[in-house]
Amino acid sequence: MSPHLKNFTQMSTYNIFNVVCLLVRTKQPSACYTLWEKAYLMFGLFLFTGSLWSQSGNGVLSSAVPKYPQDALAFQEAEPQQRYVEIELDFLSMGQIEDFLKLDLDYDHFHPSVGKNNLVLPASELKKLLNARVAYRILVDDVAAAISRRNVEYLAKNPILKSDRATSGFELGSMGGFYTYAEVLQQLDEMKTLYPNLITSRFSIGTSYEGRTIWAVKISDNPDSNESSTEAPVYFDALHHSREPASMATVINFMFHLLENYASDPRIGYIVNNREIFIVPVVNPDGYEYNRQTNPNGGGMWRKNRRINSGSSCIGVDLNRNYNTDWGGAGSSSNTCSDSYRGASVFSEPESKVIRDFTSSINAPIAYTTHTSGGYWLGPDFSNGQTEFAIHAELNNDCMYENEYIYGDAAILLGYASGTTQNWMYEALGTLS
Ligand SMILES: [Zn+2]
Repeated sequence: MSPHLKNFTQMSTYNIFNVVCLLVRTKQPSACYTLWEKAYLMFGLFLFTGSLWSQSGNGVLSSAVPKYPQDALAFQEAEPQQRYVEIELDFLSMGQIEDFLKLDLDYDHFHPSVGKNNLVLPASELKKLLNARVAYRILVDDVAAAISRRNVEYLAKNPILKSDRATSGFELGSMGGFYTYAEVLQQLDEMKTLYPNLITSRFSIGTSYEGRTIWAVKISDNPDSNESSTEAPVYFDALHHSREPASMATVINFMFHLLENYASDPRIGYIVNNREIFIVPVVNPDGYEYNRQTNPNGGGMWRKNRRINSGSSCIGVDLNRNYNTDWGGAGSSSNTCSDSYRGASVFSEPESKVIRDFTSSINAPIAYTTHTSGGYWLGPDFSNGQTEFAIHAELNNDCMYENEYIYGDAAILLGYASGTTQNWMYEALGTLS
């Protein structure tokens, strides 16, 4: 498998523990962060998720798939997914790159440079390259199949057993090692059973386009009490983009880490005692279930939700382009067939509305919305104040030295940040996200 595809699928998830550093610092600016943060760095989840794909061992896979009432939805007929390819492009000049960018191809996080470039995109986009007489070489002719093959080979070695970042509670799921939607719910229920005094039962914060429940939980001491007058809220979510399951896996492992070490690690005790930590592990259950139906062994490449777009045969809206901040700007598309289709209007989608309403209701000063495939730690534009930039900058220095992620203002790093959850939370709610 080519290095680029490996990286694309390797789920280089943003490091949630960095946020823990941030939580501690925000309330206790001088007392407790340096030592704690350094310690958390050693447990960085990015290493955990990386180790899922880079270590080897022996073991077996879990294959039990629990049944929930909502699973009935899963037995609807699933249309097969479009095929993605990985290609190699060779640019000889900046002029060639400029011509290439004008083709407006449908891809995610690609920053071409002079020389050889690898790119993952829908196979249907290749005709644009042919028409424009851009030479390319196909490296992987079916990305989903390649991921699935890799999953089978890799997971047979049970990497979890070799990872010192994995928690006791964390197990491999049945979908190429990742939990299905139903298995995520099973994990949440298991957490409540094992740690009833540290986590709430899962509660509904709304419903997806196809009618699945979007679940949240809260981790805190006295979880079933409202302690918002004395404990600052914190917000995490995952799986806006349904083809990024490591974002969810990272969040689940992080939750187990808090729960399992609460009693023994005073740093975690402090955090859980002094924060209300809200988590939404599956923002886009419809897209995620669709991937399970079409690619039960993992590798499903569906990114958007499953909205039926009126007047179009193409399905889905990119939820992370549907928020009301610079909606319609660069990096999003008005084409319903694009993976970055922004939707017919701001907050047109039930899922983005649910997250809007929930985050507005808890009004967390700190939030972390997780994605994969880029290897970035993205911040807002820091227009709300230099203090926030200073916090981010110091955290980046502290927390990124192990994984070498690129960090900073999302709009600068990616060249776009329109309609995203992160920027909306920062601008609308004042949440440092
Ligand atoms: Zn994403």
